[in-house]
Amino acid sequence: MKNPFENGMEQLSKVTKIKSFNEEFITRLRQPDRDIRISIPVKMDNDVTKVFEGYRVEYNNARGPYKGGIRYHKDTEINEVKALAFWMAIKCAVANIPMGGGKGGITVDPKTLSKGELERLSRGWVQKLSDILGPQKDVPAPDVNTTPEIMDWMSDEYEKITGDKTRATFTGKPIGKGGSEGRGPATGLGGFYVFDSLKGQLGLQGKCKVVIQGFGNVGLNAAQIFISHGHSIIAISDSKGGVYNPLGFDIEKLIEHKKNTGALAGFAGSTDITNEELLETECDVLVPAAFENQITDANADKIRAKVILELANGPITPEADEILFNKDIPVIPDVLANSGGVTVSYFEWDQNLKGEHWSEKEVFDKLLAMMDDAAQETFKKAKEYSTDLRRGAFILALERLEEKML
Ligand code: NAD
Repeated sequence: MKNPFENGMEQLSKVTKIKSFNEEFITRLRQPDRDIRISIPVKMDNDVTKVFEGYRVEYNNARGPYKGGIRYHKDTEINEVKALAFWMAIKCAVANIPMGGGKGGITVDPKTLSKGELERLSRGWVQKLSDILGPQKDVPAPDVNTTPEIMDWMSDEYEKITGDKTRATFTGKPIGKGGSEGRGPATGLGGFYVFDSLKGQLGLQGKCKVVIQGFGNVGLNAAQIFISHGHSIIAISDSKGGVYNPLGFDIEKLIEHKKNTGALAGFAGSTDITNEELLETECDVLVPAAFENQITDANADKIRAKVILELANGPITPEADEILFNKDIPVIPDVLANSGGVTVSYFEWDQNLKGEHWSEKEVFDKLLAMMDDAAQETFKKAKEYSTDLRRGAFILALERLEEKML
């Protein structure tokens, strides 16, 4: 299987086959502005020093400061971070926010660290990179396994090193420490707004049966939001496996069950299923909200969803995209569907710089307007070029980026 960056570049090539762009512009977009690898020494609780590998990829800043999350995962490596940074550049342009694309990470399983070790590691990442970060330079955010508390440690470390008190260098901070109202559910909520804007155009009506892969920030918030709008979640999973109930879950009880038992399996009234089975469940909407490369040429043919809403980054390979396109299963692509997270991060940065604090209602109203606009602009482009929504979103973003870069 290709790595995520190769997948991203293949998506770019597919788009340039249906619309031509300036060649130098496309050549420049095939490499990040810079990719930085760092080693972070951390004194562990047993007094032994361990060295971790960290990354920051600054992909493109034609439209504004580099922007993108920091991922902590045992499998994180440079090609994954490069791909995520490339998608951020496209995503910020689709959402039409004045930000560029970046991404960071550390190769670590954070569950194996104590809280103190995690804090020293997070502060260490900032110590190595503080020169290139800043409100007008590069603004990181949370991603997989990075929490508001981690963002607060990082923001504090940056302030100690540089004296900058705006708190605008890191987003996703806790409310009360410079964080924005609504940042927690922003990605799931933005995804729902995009879905709601497009569902009629994609042939869905009324209440939908939804299947979600992932039970973290994005998957869980999406589940709660879909349910609050009258839809039902009939299957959901985490890294250990999933559960299925055709009648729909009481999600709060399922959260309680996972808290008590450590797993989703064994939830009363439901059937345990594997992640493979979950992806192949018949439903109206399938929401991958975990990791890359989940729907590939090996299983795309078995997908029985009417629509796919990609809340994870890169869960469908380019080969699988073609299979789904030929099966008439529309995919609402990641660069549109999960752009609510970075949009509210942009709101947070804007509030920090202006010294303001917006109400949750104000944040959600602005988010709804921007997601609706991005969804409809993407749909128009896809229609204009008789193509899928991913290529539509890329065309929209590339036009906006090309205009700035030339
Ligand atoms: P998270 O760490 O909060 O949750 C990840 C979830 O995925 C966990 O429940 C984990 O158990 C589950 N998981 C891991 N491997 C799995 C597997 N093989 N099958 C099923 N589930 C599995 O992370 P998150 O912030 O929710 O991010 C999820 C995805 O959304 C990532 O692709 C991330 O890049 C993307 N994303 C996140 C944000 C954000 O604001 N957090 C914004 C945009 C995109």
